[in-house]
Amino acid sequence: MLWVLAILLCIAAVMLWRQRIALSQLRYEHQRVVERAQAEHQRALGEERASSDAVIQSLEEGLLILDGQGRIVTANAAMRAAFRIRDEVRGRSVMEALRVHQVQDIVQRTLENGRVLDAEIELAVLGGVTRYFQVNSARVLNAIGGVQGAVLVFHDITRLKQLEVTRREFVANVSHELRTPLSIIKGYAETLTTMLVDTETTQKFATIMERHADRLTALVEDLLTISGLESGQMRMNVMAVDLHKLVQRVVDELAEKAAARDVGVMNEVPAALSVAADSGRLQQVLTNLIDNALKYGREHGQVIIESMPGPDEVMISISDDGAGIPPEARERVFERFYRVDKARSREQGGTGLGLSIVKHIVQAHGGRVWVESSATGGARFCLTLPANRD
Ligand code: ADP
Repeated sequence: MLWVLAILLCIAAVMLWRQRIALSQLRYEHQRVVERAQAEHQRALGEERASSDAVIQSLEEGLLILDGQGRIVTANAAMRAAFRIRDEVRGRSVMEALRVHQVQDIVQRTLENGRVLDAEIELAVLGGVTRYFQVNSARVLNAIGGVQGAVLVFHDITRLKQLEVTRREFVANVSHELRTPLSIIKGYAETLTTMLVDTETTQKFATIMERHADRLTALVEDLLTISGLESGQMRMNVMAVDLHKLVQRVVDELAEKAAARDVGVMNEVPAALSVAADSGRLQQVLTNLIDNALKYGREHGQVIIESMPGPDEVMISISDDGAGIPPEARERVFERFYRVDKARSREQGGTGLGLSIVKHIVQAHGGRVWVESSATGGARFCLTLPANRD
């Protein structure tokens, strides 16, 4: 009887022992599952963080994320570049890291009021350049409504600002250019209508009025051309153009002007050289450049038009033997209304837009234009145009 009890006890002990092993195995399995799930969760979190970090870093806008105390949590690449941040700024205050009072002010207003919209800040960068940013920001709250931090987005609007300045300057320049001949015409017209003047004086005044009316017409025409070129509405009708013939046509049209200053004009472009261009627009380019050479070149001097054919493009040059253009003004003469000698340009009836039109047209053909010193120290305007491949 006793040994039966012993056997039963043994069996019970074995069963218990096996149950414990099964239990610990189960616990072990369970722990493995939990660990695996944890690892998976961590990996997913890491991946999510990495992908959102990649998005933040690749944003074109500058992004600044702050904690509830206004300390930096993240400053993305665009932000670091714009504010020239080189060191680690995490954990530092905005004032410490950026040293820009305007940003600090936006942070404070955001944390207090919830958001700041379309604030503009100016940033003086090295070399006297100023960059402009539009800043939008929002406060971030946690689940129970406490302030968790703030997000600031910086949009670089420097280019827009520059365009605005250019547009304002352009309008001011146009108004000024229009006002001068208009007031001259008005002045002479008033004199003619209110005072008795002899026929000779009447004739003289009428001639002056006509000259200024012509200047106004030229200015309006040039403005319309510029506006057409800049808006891209003017389509280039490119075809094979006989360069020698076109240059000769322009030279013949300007013959009277050349004779008035006793300037010899030489067309050195070889016959049968052709370029791929819009004939009418190229004629305008050549007229502006040869007309300038006659205006600003030396009296009794010489203007030479030459060409240099290359495999892909043809270079054309117009040289005179006048005073030339000082090196510091050689880029600027292609800007609208820029003149080296204002009085001389106006006296000659110039609009100040001729070279700007030349540059637009040449670039619309895929070419380049520049000015250098001619062999005689005068100006040599050079331009390239695509060669005609037909
Ligand atoms: P403008 O109507 O005043 O001639 P342009 O745009 O044609 O306007 O030329 C801009 C300025 O460039 C001129 O006012 C003049 O000062 C200078 N310029 C142009 N061509 C020559 C040249 N051949 N020699 C010297 N200066 C020139």
